[in-house]
Order: sequence, then C-alpha cells, then structure tokens
Amino acid sequence: NLNLSKKALMIYPSVTLEITAKAKEMKEMGINVIGFGAGEPDFNTPENIQNAGIEAIQSGNTKYTATSGIPELKKAICQKLKSENNLDYKTNNIIISNGAKQSIFNALFAILNPGDEVIMPIPYWVSYPEFIRLCDGIPIPIETKEENGFKISVRDLDYVLTPKTKALILNSPSNPTGTVYNEDELKEIANWAVKNNIFVISDEIYEKLVYDGHKHISIASFSEEIKKLTIVINGMSKAYAMTGWRIGYAACDEEIVKVMTNIQSHTTSNPCSISQYASVEGLIGDQFIIEEMKKHFIARRDYMVEKINSINGLSCKKPVGAFYVMANISKLKGLNIKGRTINTSLDFANLLLEEGKVAVIPGSAFGADDFVRLSYATSMKNIEEGLKRIEEILK
Ligand code: PLP
Repeated sequence: NLNLSKKALMIYPSVTLEITAKAKEMKEMGINVIGFGAGEPDFNTPENIQNAGIEAIQSGNTKYTATSGIPELKKAICQKLKSENNLDYKTNNIIISNGAKQSIFNALFAILNPGDEVIMPIPYWVSYPEFIRLCDGIPIPIETKEENGFKISVRDLDYVLTPKTKALILNSPSNPTGTVYNEDELKEIANWAVKNNIFVISDEIYEKLVYDGHKHISIASFSEEIKKLTIVINGMSKAYAMTGWRIGYAACDEEIVKVMTNIQSHTTSNPCSISQYASVEGLIGDQFIIEEMKKHFIARRDYMVEKINSINGLSCKKPVGAFYVMANISKLKGLNIKGRTINTSLDFANLLLEEGKVAVIPGSAFGADDFVRLSYATSMKNIEEGLKRIEEILK
C-alpha cells in the first residue's frame, strides 16, 4: 500500500459514475442496456449557442480570460438574476467557474474551517458530503420523509444546530427528489439562517425545470440580511443542455467572491473562454429551448410516475422539478428475486442491470437506501422499454 493522503482516501468514488461505467461497459459489449442514470438533458445545445461558440473560436477569443470570468458574461448573469430572481448584484459579486460543481466547491473552501458543520437534507446530491469533507468540514445530514415531499423544516434545523454549524446547503429544485420549496418555507429557513448567522449555499442549478405551476424562488431575494449570507449557485448545464461546456457561477458578497477567485486562480484559472462567450448568447438569446425541453420532460415524467406506481412492489410521488423520479423500493427489501436477496438499493440496482439490462442509481448514493433514482432525461421510447423490463422482473 502506498502512503497516500488520508483526506483523499476518505473520498468515496461516485456510485453514480460506477453504475454508469458498468452500464457503458455492457453497451460496448453489444448488450442493449436502457440507461436511467443520466444527469443531463438528452437534447443538443441550441444552435444559436453553438454558433456563438464557433464565432468565439474564429474571432480569437481563445486565450486566458480574467480568472473570475469575462465582464460580458458577468453582466448577462447580473441581468438574469435581476429580471428572473429579483436579485441585485454587481459584476464584482459574480464568479464564473468550470461548472456549478466547481462553484460549490470553491464556496465551501472559502467559508469552512476545520470541524465546521454543514447541514444538508437527505436525499442529498452525491457530491455535497465529499466537497464538505475535502474542505475539512463535517457533513450533517437531516433525514426527510417522502410523505412530506422530502422537505426539511426549521424544527429539523434547530435540532441539529450547534455552535459549530457554519452553513446549510439547500438544493431547490432538488436532485434527486425534484422537491421545490415554496415561498413560505423558504422565508422560514431564511429567518432561521439570519437569526443564527448561518451561510446558505443555494444550489439553484435546476431552477428552470419546475412544473405544474410551481415557481422557483431564490432564498437570497427576501432581504439584505439573507442575501449577505447566501451564496447563490447556478449554471448553464441543465437549463441550456450545456453540460459539456462546463460553465457555472456563484453570486454572493464581494468578500467571498474575492476569496473564491484567489482559490480558482491557483487551481484552474478561468473557465473555458469559448464556453463563456457561448454562455452570453445562452443567457441573452432566445429562451425557447427551455419551454421545448420542459414539454418533453413533463410528458415523460407523467408516464414514468404512472407506470412505476403500477409495478408490483414499487411506488413513487410525482416530483415537481428537475428530471428525476425517486422510486420507493422498501417493499422489496428482504425479498428474493431471481435468486438474489434484495437487502440494499445497490442489490436492487445490480439486479435490474444484470437481469433486466436497465441502469438506475441506487439511493444509497444520496443517503436514501429505500429508493432508486430514475432519470427521465432520455427518450419516451427508452422509458417505455426500460419500465417494461423492470415490470417483467418484478412480476
Ligand atoms: N448541483 C446539482 C444538484 C447537480 O445535480 C449538478 C449536476 O449534476 C450540479 C450541481 C453541477 O452541475 P455542473 O457542474 O454541470 O454545472
């Protein structure tokens, strides 16, 4: 055994990527695997954005930019935050990074001291606890209930509050649950954060993907006090089908932006110059793609939810945001299916992959072992076929 970093060895590999890799391997062997693992829209980046990228290359915008991003994109982000989220930020409140993933990491790196506690609701996005640990913090998960829409309340927050509590990560709309907090719920959480002087990392990356009349509201928009404590995270990946371009951003107090910029100046420098210019077009250009994608997502979600609830042993609630369904598998636990005992969500995911050639993400990746996550960012044809295979196995 080599003598490696204790901190690095504490980081778990992403279960999401593990299952996805296994499914990919099977596909390469010629096996017809249906993948419900996708964490990205299955649409192409819109043409106007593609063209802006090509134009950036041809006009020589291919050099280093300022570490925190080009002024044009910062201005477009400020306009977006003003008109859509009722948030007043100046360009010196913005830092653009290589995806929202880097934005969240920089934010935690900027605020955490060793032993600081960061609260995160379960089910959480896979990377949060690993980010926190990498930044020498301690993840403090809060259990939620499916019947309460997987939401936390101020009572839950009070219960885990200690003198070491430094921040709360809020992800609305949520990956993996699709939960969207309403205005009253957010106001209560905001009041709690202000009263206790707790930072809020508000991951709003799925903001455009809300359905059934629900509305995305940024928690930072309620008062100057909560705005001061909030680091708003957003990006281009999910709303504009731009996952590969790697553009995310944070909006927050200038003091935090400066520290995040210092960190980024040594780790990665600026995010890709070409992607930044293309993102300007994404934000100020025609927004039609979003409505188009939503139409597809709603039809697929409705089909998926109805079908899952008709399958033996499975159930799910209808999510109102993002593009994932959490299927409850608790009734299957302890059962023997096709010669395998199902004790964990990973057992069930392996059963589906090996026996049914269907890839789902085990809930253990999100701290919720009674569930598996299915993404509906795939064609209706795949959804129909994949769910048919799952139904077959559970007959
Ligand atoms: N936050 C959540 C909840 C996500 O699901 C993702 C992507 O899967 C991200 C942040 C990061 O997105 P990106 O780094 O592509 O901007």
